[in-house]
Amino acid sequence: MGKLALRRRKKGWQAQHSRRIWQTIAAYANADLAAWSNENTRTFRELVHLCADLTGDATFPMADFARGDFSRFHDVNQLAQSTKQSPEWAFREILTVYQDDFRRLLTWLCSPEKHSELAKGATQFLMKLSSSIRWTVEANTEFDEVNGCPLFYLKNISNYGSILSPVCKFIFDRIERFHEGDPIDRGEAVPLIICQREGCGRFALPQRKGRREFCGNNCRSSAYQSKQPRTEKNRYQRKYRATVKKGAALPKARSNCPKR
Ligand SMILES: [Zn+2]
Repeated sequence: MGKLALRRRKKGWQAQHSRRIWQTIAAYANADLAAWSNENTRTFRELVHLCADLTGDATFPMADFARGDFSRFHDVNQLAQSTKQSPEWAFREILTVYQDDFRRLLTWLCSPEKHSELAKGATQFLMKLSSSIRWTVEANTEFDEVNGCPLFYLKNISNYGSILSPVCKFIFDRIERFHEGDPIDRGEAVPLIICQREGCGRFALPQRKGRREFCGNNCRSSAYQSKQPRTEKNRYQRKYRATVKKGAALPKARSNCPKR
């Protein structure tokens, strides 16, 4: 495959998976990990695999990883051995240990101007995890720019310092690209938001560009209703109750919503 085709393939792949990656990142940061189901951990494993793939880990052992083999991840391995617990237990434990740091990192990335106090710690955390990746390099003796493999050497990853290393490397690479000017918009490089409804504060990926305040329709409409003057709110609630009683169509809650 030619160099251009390789680059195009990588770009297309990234665009296709980027949304899913950010959604899973937000889900991990928001999660009550003690209540995480097997389905949640399976989705998180997929995230690790996708990010490893984007990092260039062509030999990532997905099938073994899905079956609970964490040998590629130093922190999970070490904790399982030192506590004599299962790797699966150590995996969940490491995710719990890092969750607060990870949330601080995302908080800073979502609003770097508002949360400058988090900049130092978040940068250290990001650097520590994203750089603890061990590479092996194999010379390519069959370099062929036209018809074959146009690479001087082949890089492989032998292990990661942490189960979160591939995810942090993904975030680090997005920031690097933003620094280089592609994309120019910070919201495109790090598309997550923190929901602005009082009492929510969840991380979310907005459905549409430009909607960067709330995690979903529920928070958007309750934030809007709580801003309405009391009399207006009461009038709407009376109308709502009356309509529900009659079984008619519901009044439009956002009919007076100012244009955004
Ligand atoms: Zn919300």
